[in-house]
Amino acid sequence: MVEPKLYKETVDRLKALGFPLELPLEVTHYIGGEFVRGENFFPVVYPATGEVIATAPEGREKEVDLAVAAAKEAFAKWSKMPPSQRRPYLRRFAEKIREWRPLFEVVETLDVGRPIHENRLGYVDRMANNIEFFADFAVTHGSEAYPMENGYINYVLRFPVGVAALITPWNMPTMLATWKIGPTLAFGNTAILKPAEFTPLGAWLLAKAAHEAGLPPGVFNVVHGFGPNSAGEFLTRHPDVRLISFTGETATGKVIIKNGADTLKRFSMELGGKAPNLIFESADLDRAVEVTMRASFFNQGEVCLAGSRLLVQRSVYRAFLDKLVAAAKALKVGDPLDPETRMGALIAQEHLEKVMSYVEIARKTATILTGGRRPELPHPFDKGYFLEPTVVVDVKPSDKVCQEEIFGPMVVVMPFDTEEEAIELANNTPYGLNAIVQTRDVGQAVRVSEALEVGTVWVNDWFVRDLRVPFGGAKQSGIGREGGHYGYEFYYEIKNVCIANK
Ligand code: NDP
Repeated sequence: MVEPKLYKETVDRLKALGFPLELPLEVTHYIGGEFVRGENFFPVVYPATGEVIATAPEGREKEVDLAVAAAKEAFAKWSKMPPSQRRPYLRRFAEKIREWRPLFEVVETLDVGRPIHENRLGYVDRMANNIEFFADFAVTHGSEAYPMENGYINYVLRFPVGVAALITPWNMPTMLATWKIGPTLAFGNTAILKPAEFTPLGAWLLAKAAHEAGLPPGVFNVVHGFGPNSAGEFLTRHPDVRLISFTGETATGKVIIKNGADTLKRFSMELGGKAPNLIFESADLDRAVEVTMRASFFNQGEVCLAGSRLLVQRSVYRAFLDKLVAAAKALKVGDPLDPETRMGALIAQEHLEKVMSYVEIARKTATILTGGRRPELPHPFDKGYFLEPTVVVDVKPSDKVCQEEIFGPMVVVMPFDTEEEAIELANNTPYGLNAIVQTRDVGQAVRVSEALEVGTVWVNDWFVRDLRVPFGGAKQSGIGREGGHYGYEFYYEIKNVCIANK
């Protein structure tokens, strides 16, 4: 294994701050309350330097079988506990996450390459809230009763479903894991998390937090590995897994549904996006640029909700673009652990190449206003997977770069004249996760929001999340909604009892 210098330095720095933890150079599975050594390993690479900083084990049938058996055994007791008894465990888990905030902040950056600055904007709180919110929700929410006029009463009961496979992507790994862990466990199910192969460190730390919080063995398990013909696929085919909560690419979601069909699992699918960001002439342009910068380049643009298609009313097109290009050029790209950095590295060499292939298409068929190049950075960041923030114009709505999810710091910009044209352009992709509408005309905000075929619309902002509201995608961006009582429908089995009361 390559000498993981930077990784060690970080761990040492954390230890100097008084952290009791030692991160493993060899990541382990977490099965049945034990940290289990793997047999086959793959390297864990820090995206900002290309250095191997750890190794992670590939879970195969054996580890998946063990984890499912442990989760099944734990389910027998955990599912029978009233929510009020499960809540203290989950609160301790959330507290442990908060206590280890700086550690999670650094580990997330080592996993993802995201600037640590962005991890300090409430990311770790959100992780803890994801768990606490659903623990409280399960306690405070009851069920419905439907009296009938002819002497009957119906009442609705909710039961835990069983063993859940939680399959997560690499872009917001610990936040998305807790978004699934929270409702899964709070509603009495037990879980096996299969994190993305690129980001095993945060998942290991989550297991450590769950362990220290005293979660009963088997309630929460982590099996590392890959997707096809590896831990991911074995989990989705396992007959004792009842529920699959998946976040990832649309194409992967389709494969998982096929693989889980034989055992008729229930699926929640949070899939890809190609969100339109509509900027109308009445928008506050400075604010619109600020929102657009975040929506375009937060997490290097590796966000399912990224506003990667900018639709700008022609009367403000030039003025908006001038401001946007100036802001993009000023973005500080580089060392993600430097608190001043505002854009980090893409997740992996292969992903950088994928994003660069779209840049090359744009170079041939469109105009790159800014970006499109690897920034020149000092050693060791010259080996990292960086790309300048990239703004592309002169595109047609049917172009590949306007239709496909690029998942990097590259946005396309198209002008429009009328509200109707903007709506038509916005709806013109197979995706429908979310949209951004920037206008100071309230009537317009309402009309346009209603007409957009998406799961979420943000007006004059982006990525504001209230855990009570439904979250999920329309069209090819997903199936189902999670959040608040919407999660009730997915993470609980529902039964109606009809009683003759005469
Ligand atoms: P992928 O679909 O490639 O992978 C997601 C997870 O699925 C990973 O853990 C992956 O493992 C696993 N996986 C892959 N193939 C299979 C399989 N056949 N069976 C079981 N598991 C499998 O997505 P990315 O990790 O590349 O993440 C980026 C995608 O996620 C983007 O499309 C983005 O839009 C979407 N996303 C959606 C969100 C939403 O809320 N709608 C939020 C965040 C991201 P491995 O990593 O080992 O391949």
